[in-house]
Amino acid sequence: MSRILVDFDRCEGHGLCEQTAPEVFRLDDEGELHLTREEVAPEDERAVAAAVRVCPVAALKVRP
Ligand code: SF4
Repeated sequence: MSRILVDFDRCEGHGLCEQTAPEVFRLDDEGELHLTREEVAPEDERAVAAAVRVCPVAALKVRP
């Protein structure tokens, strides 16, 4: 299963990933990003790939 990698130094808490894949990405009240899971389940692959594309600071990657 592939894994989600977050570059927390780049992440600015825009939340577009959460909007795109809310099952996987969560922002807390302070705007800190959390992953509900680090491995990409088959049913989440498309949403996670879309989240990687929409992140405006390229903080997300998926490692096969
Ligand atoms: S879209 Fe990018 S910058 Fe915004 S919260 Fe997600 S990872 Fe961080």
